[in-house]
Amino acid sequence: MKAIRMVAPGKVLELQEIPIPSFGEADVLVRVRAAGICHSDAHYRAGRSPMGMLPITLGHEVAGKVEAVGSQVRSIKAGERVCLHYNISCGDCYYCKNGIEQFCTTVKMIGHHVDGGYAEYIAMPARNAIHLPDEISFEEGATLMCASATALHALRRGRVKDGETVAVFGVGGLGMSAIQLAKALGAVEVYAVDIKRDKLELASEYGAIPIDASRMDAAEEIRRLTKGKGVDVGLEMIGLPVTMKQTVQSLGPLGRAVIVGLSQVPFEVDPYRTLIGYEAEIIGSNDHLLQELPILIDMARRKILDTSHVVSQTIPLDADKVNQRLDDLEIYTNDVRAVIVQSA
Ligand SMILES: [Zn+2]
Ligand SMILES: [Zn+2]
Repeated sequence: MKAIRMVAPGKVLELQEIPIPSFGEADVLVRVRAAGICHSDAHYRAGRSPMGMLPITLGHEVAGKVEAVGSQVRSIKAGERVCLHYNISCGDCYYCKNGIEQFCTTVKMIGHHVDGGYAEYIAMPARNAIHLPDEISFEEGATLMCASATALHALRRGRVKDGETVAVFGVGGLGMSAIQLAKALGAVEVYAVDIKRDKLELASEYGAIPIDASRMDAAEEIRRLTKGKGVDVGLEMIGLPVTMKQTVQSLGPLGRAVIVGLSQVPFEVDPYRTLIGYEAEIIGSNDHLLQELPILIDMARRKILDTSHVVSQTIPLDADKVNQRLDDLEIYTNDVRAVIVQSA
């Protein structure tokens, strides 16, 4: 089969002819129909993150049709449309058995530690394959597996409930999903903080109250708009110390600040005013869980979550085109999202 593979850090990806992967009795073999090209893939290709093996087929946002199933697989049949949870956990360790498989000691990510979906076929444990309803295209299904799922997990970490208010700092792909999902979870008001006007406009179309942080202090503005109360949940999706600080400063009593954006730089908190006084919480959120994906897919099926704006370009399984897209991602910070699409 054809696969687009990383052969060395910092080198362009290459189209290689490799065997169709073999699969075990608890696995499924999936004919890939869509594979999202993610910003992380640009980091991987550049060598900014250690890979599990080389050469390796990239691609962790994958949807397709089940080609064949292992002898023990009962949950899924050949011919079924599926999308794939990208983290392969052991299913057997202390963490897996307690439903927190993201801490599995041997977790492997497709397209990072093992071969991913920039290929004609991929083999996966059957429990990683989630049914994809006909109403959702393969392209959308693939992209749901990354940013949208991570946004849902962050909202669940923040325990967003009916009648609450939410502030989303950074409304790229993650943030735009977070706005819609927050509303679906019952948030009455969602504030969208960004410095890019086009993103703020799109956020308002999804019902958020835009705050242009290039022109004002976002935390003060949230405090003003909530008549001094602050928000119940703040989501930081940028990864900057200054926005992390503002996320905490935006909270009201019993508020929860969920930090999603990656950073290794410390950020400042005023413990007396913002944490102790309000009994506020600062919560870390990392990735998402297999069990959250069916919930997310159901929201997309019912159009509560509209991801039609996410996929901006489809390309064939072509190394030059994929490399070009990864070059684009290195230059732009925009969330223009291309998906590799293959016909059956
Ligand atoms: Zn991704
Ligand atoms: Zn495990």
